[in-house]
Amino acid sequence: MHGDIEKILIAEEVIGKRLDVIARKIHKDFFDENSLQVVAILKGALVFMADLLRRVPLELEIECLNVASYHGGIESSGQVDFLDRKLPDVSGRCVLLIDDILDTGRTLAAVSEKLREMGAREVKTCVLLTKDKERAAAVEVDYSAFEIADEFVVGYGLDFDGKYRNLPYVGVLNPSVISS
Ligand code: 5GP
Ligand code: MG
Repeated sequence: MHGDIEKILIAEEVIGKRLDVIARKIHKDFFDENSLQVVAILKGALVFMADLLRRVPLELEIECLNVASYHGGIESSGQVDFLDRKLPDVSGRCVLLIDDILDTGRTLAAVSEKLREMGAREVKTCVLLTKDKERAAAVEVDYSAFEIADEFVVGYGLDFDGKYRNLPYVGVLNPSVISS
């Protein structure tokens, strides 16, 4: 697994330190809310969410959403499908929407719009990574841990073909892995 990685982009300790900062900010920003609804997008946000939320000493509830926008390869398909039969009830709630990475922006744009349609009072967005590129869909991110170049990354929740999500760091795959 580690042998398939060409370079480590963001090391485990660096992620941890940055999460401390983001968590403090979230704690401060939501301190006055009496309850916070977290909605995390599976599966990419799993690792990030778990590590981040354990640093946030607020009363919160966690829901997860299954959406598909990537279908195996490394290019976005352009369409966002909601895969759950029942979506979380967010009406009147203040929502913190968590995803792994802001790439084209389509996922976060579609999901935040959906949450607002479903009556969320406020939707704030939080991502581990923001790719430095033009977005296909306009979306505002409230909390972003790291900005990265426009390249395909894996680890810390992000997969290639279902694998590498459990790497404790964010890295770039050897090109031979992608082409094989
Ligand atoms: P969007 O293009 O809608 O902003 O991002 C959609 C999804 O594509 C992300 O949630 C993530 O799962 C996936 N994605 C985008 N860029 C990358 C990347 O560099 N690596 C991996 N593994 N997934 C990515
Ligand atoms: Mg994803």
